[in-house]
Amino acid sequence: MLKTNSELKLMREANRIIAIILTEIADKIKPGVSTLELDRWAEQRLASMNAKPAFKGYGARNGRNGFPGSLCVAINEEVVHGIPSKDRILEEGDIIGIDVGSIYKGYHGDGAYTYAVGEISPAARALMKCCEEALYVGIAQARKGNRVSDISSAIDHYVTPRGYGIVRDLTGHGIGRDLHEEPQVLNYIDGHKGQKLKENMTLAIEPMINGGTYKVRTLSDQWTVVTEDGSLSAHYEHTVLITADGPEILTHV
Ligand code: MG
Repeated sequence: MLKTNSELKLMREANRIIAIILTEIADKIKPGVSTLELDRWAEQRLASMNAKPAFKGYGARNGRNGFPGSLCVAINEEVVHGIPSKDRILEEGDIIGIDVGSIYKGYHGDGAYTYAVGEISPAARALMKCCEEALYVGIAQARKGNRVSDISSAIDHYVTPRGYGIVRDLTGHGIGRDLHEEPQVLNYIDGHKGQKLKENMTLAIEPMINGGTYKVRTLSDQWTVVTEDGSLSAHYEHTVLITADGPEILTHV
């Protein structure tokens, strides 16, 4: 949906808050820390900026409770939507994707970043680099007059020749009053053009890239998505505003 100027002001703040969380949490990610400690910190930090966690309680449906955390955490072969736990302790060499959503005065912020825990393998480093670069390649296409599929195909053309798997079951999305709005922003080419991009649209663009197959499955906790082959996965996300002059990343400090 197109945003008015007063809505954009709130979207900017909701997403500036996300940028602050993702910047500050970097110092807290180290061996020995539990994912629940990260989650508790994030919830308090959101509250200190007058924001609520957008993910907490989200997605309840028949037989499944809403998401219990403020952060979605995803270690190594976990792709997204891992549940923070006191028993999940970060170890040297892990990679951890942190996805955080905010609600500020009724508007949503959403962003994600994958962090290294201490020293990581060259393969993990290369996967993270490809995913982060793919995000920026996609953002560059978030221009008025382009189609949603221009973002998708830019990401696909960047990632696929590098031999990685692009997750298909989860996608980017419009964002505003709702966390997930139209349009869906695929990270791969599906043959559809998708809608035309217009000024004052806000999109969350978020490639999820696997070291092996693109296929994923959901664990019995009904939330945690993992790679089917156990390969590593990376995830980066920015919320972007389409302006007359091109894309503006809102999840920057
Ligand atoms: Mg998102």
